[in-house]
Amino acid sequence: MFHRALHGFIEVVCGSMFSGKTEELLRRVRRAQIARQKVQVFKPAIDIRYSQDHVQSHDSNRVASRPVQSAREILDLVDDNTRVVGIDEAQFFDDAVVDVAQKLAYRGMRVIVAGLDMDFKGQPFGPMPKLLAVAETVTKLSAVCVVCGNPASRTQKVVGGDERIAVGAKEMYEARCRFCHEPDVIDRTSPSESLPAQAQ
Ligand code: ADP
Ligand code: MG
Ligand code: ZN
Repeated sequence: MFHRALHGFIEVVCGSMFSGKTEELLRRVRRAQIARQKVQVFKPAIDIRYSQDHVQSHDSNRVASRPVQSAREILDLVDDNTRVVGIDEAQFFDDAVVDVAQKLAYRGMRVIVAGLDMDFKGQPFGPMPKLLAVAETVTKLSAVCVVCGNPASRTQKVVGGDERIAVGAKEMYEARCRFCHEPDVIDRTSPSESLPAQAQ
């Protein structure tokens, strides 16, 4: 007997900003495409940093993706013959994305979820802890700390306010290690700007 569901599983790719999550998602997607598997990629509509209809890494690699307002939409949009479902920037979805990923995996699909594990304060981000818990595999990537050069696990906010969700790239955030990271926003545009001791 053929148990299609046995082939479904969830892979999570997490880490700080600039750690290469999107690059890794795209790498896995490309390999699936080379294997002639039908792939569909989704991202939250909030992430319009580079493009409405592509997932793009900071290195400008890109793949077609569908922006969705809510994770639930993904369930209706995934075709039956799709083998691999990619979800980028999963931290911006609510907890429903966990249920969506589980359902797709039970439908026999390989679900690759990429997202920030921590927000800029160093706190677990949205649904990511739950996704990490239910995934079959977890890949935690690190960036390079821009202050000291060690592996960076955290995202430093360097401009703007205290809001958790402010989509931006290089001009707003940088990668930092545990010791160089400051949970409070370092506003470089204000005169009271300060950097960690190591940087001075
Ligand atoms: P993520 O999706 O995790 O934010 P991307 O896959 O979009 O990351 O981009 C990763 C790329 O960002 C790296 O390959 C590198 O070219 C670039 N990059 C810029 N700043 C850094 C940094 N501080 N550490 C590592 N990579 C960086
Ligand atoms: Mg990314
Ligand atoms: Zn550091």
